[in-house]
Amino acid sequence: MSNCAIVGINWGDEGKGRMVDLLTGSYDIVVRYQGGGNAGHTVINEYGKFALHLLPSGIFRPGVMNVLGNGVALDAENLIKEIQTVADHGVYVTPDNLRISERASLLLPWHRDLDGLEEARLADKKYGSTKQGIAPFYSDKYQKKTVLAGELFDREHLLKHLADLLEWKNLTLQRVYGAEPYTMETLMKWVDEYGAKIKPFICDTGRLLREAQKNGKNIMFEAQLGSLRDLDFGIYPYTTSSNTTAAFAPIGSGFPGAKIDDVIGVVKAYSTCVGEGPFVCEWFGEEAEKLREAGGEYGAKTGRPRRVGPLDTVATRYGVEVQAATCIALTKTDVLSYMDKIPVCTHYMIDGKISDEFPFPSRLDGAKPVIEYLDGWKTDISSCRTWEELPEAARAYVEFIEKEIGCHIGYVSVGPERDSIIYR
Ligand code: GDP
Repeated sequence: MSNCAIVGINWGDEGKGRMVDLLTGSYDIVVRYQGGGNAGHTVINEYGKFALHLLPSGIFRPGVMNVLGNGVALDAENLIKEIQTVADHGVYVTPDNLRISERASLLLPWHRDLDGLEEARLADKKYGSTKQGIAPFYSDKYQKKTVLAGELFDREHLLKHLADLLEWKNLTLQRVYGAEPYTMETLMKWVDEYGAKIKPFICDTGRLLREAQKNGKNIMFEAQLGSLRDLDFGIYPYTTSSNTTAAFAPIGSGFPGAKIDDVIGVVKAYSTCVGEGPFVCEWFGEEAEKLREAGGEYGAKTGRPRRVGPLDTVATRYGVEVQAATCIALTKTDVLSYMDKIPVCTHYMIDGKISDEFPFPSRLDGAKPVIEYLDGWKTDISSCRTWEELPEAARAYVEFIEKEIGCHIGYVSVGPERDSIIYR
């Protein structure tokens, strides 16, 4: 029996979905514990290529139970769409392979509206939201102004609760943003359509996880985004609105006593970042375009071109520390095969001083990357399956990164397919 968390070390999009899909074979339960329909996990397997936003990536493994914990922004509209998409490819989601925490809060239609309205108000100062309602949702949760999934089972209570929330939310919609108010009728239409569809999946998932643990089952916790987007430890305010770190997994999953034996941190062999905020290693122009094309770096949710640059070991080492990672999976190593020399950012220059410490967020604006160059391997490595098969320069790159970030690299991924992996 052992539990693990699979988390992003950087800005997200590191390839977590791919690693969860690979490793779920050894786990009985996969739990999503934070985030919602904003970021996407790409999984390629025998059923096809999928961009999962809410469904845990264990959904493709027969016999694996998937759980959406209380920490998730329960976006029923996106969830139903995803369930349909995977069903179209022969993967059926039923209460036998998906459960939703009765304590997960519902992301309501006005959360999405408010996200768009606030980004529009901010204009050129916008945060780069995916407009899936995540920030308004978590703000409301902390204000205790959300509806829990379990409330769908008590209609009388639900009507009263929603009427109170409606009165309060319309004040913001109308007075702050000059937007159309909601009516009870539109709200209940939404609840009747989507609430009814998710009801069969709702249960006390805390109990389910505690019992699974008692029975010696292995649990995997799947994070969304990465360390640098963590609300408390990331590049605030350009973070997400939840905690992406492994330490939050026991809380957000509904199993506060969970012990996490292994934290597998996923790191991409170069850097990418979606949205606004400081990104010290950013490349522009032709250099950036080449890397973006080689890595297919376009957002899974929005299709936006991702910002790209060389691997940043200052940010990555910090990410490893805040995740308390016990092992690293280095992904997309094959993408670097076109480079003659491979740049790596090893330090930042801030106010004329060289440092290997990741600074306080507001100091990132003045930071400049200090770059070292390693030899490229200039050959296709996507069919390599053992450490020995990798060219010497590729092994040297992996070993260099490992030393710089202070954590063992146990997996080297050389392609998006499930078996394009080297165990080390
Ligand atoms: P996640 O949100 O962390 O799961 O990451 P994304 O799904 O946003 O991005 C990872 C992308 O890289 C997906 O399109 C994966 O199929 C792809 N991918 C993952 N690992 C590898 C790899 O080792 N090589 C290549 N070429 N692509 C990979």
